Amino acid sequence: MVSYMNKPVNIKYISKDTLLFILEVCRSTAPAEFAGLLRAEDNTIVEVIFLPGTTSSEVSAVLHLYMLPNMRIAGTIHSHPTPNTTPSPADLGLFARTGSCHIIVGAPYSTESWTCYDSTGAKRILQVR
Ligand code: ZN
Repeated sequence: MVSYMNKPVNIKYISKDTLLFILEVCRSTAPAEFAGLLRAEDNTIVEVIFLPGTTSSEVSAVLHLYMLPNMRIAGTIHSHPTPNTTPSPADLGLFARTGSCHIIVGAPYSTESWTCYDSTGAKRILQVR
């Protein structure tokens, strides 16, 4: 694992535009699962990096393609086809591999239907701003 990806970064926020964009992509992808990486600037998630055609269990396998210099990967985002945002065993394996912010969005992909987890799978606070 490359060290810059594991640098402790205290992510506190996600920009509202980024969150709304994520929700829209999840809605348009459903019932298929959407997965991507979250890029942060300072303490705020500002961008989603698409991993086209991947599911969360495949993200680990393709992460090396995205280990670009100076790219700060805060964590991952993926959708579930149901309202259940509990991480699966595959999700927990992914969370442990990179970043400290992992968002799971459940149906109906609204601003109330997502949960953020840390690298151990514990729920964590992520404020929208
Ligand atoms: Zn999942």
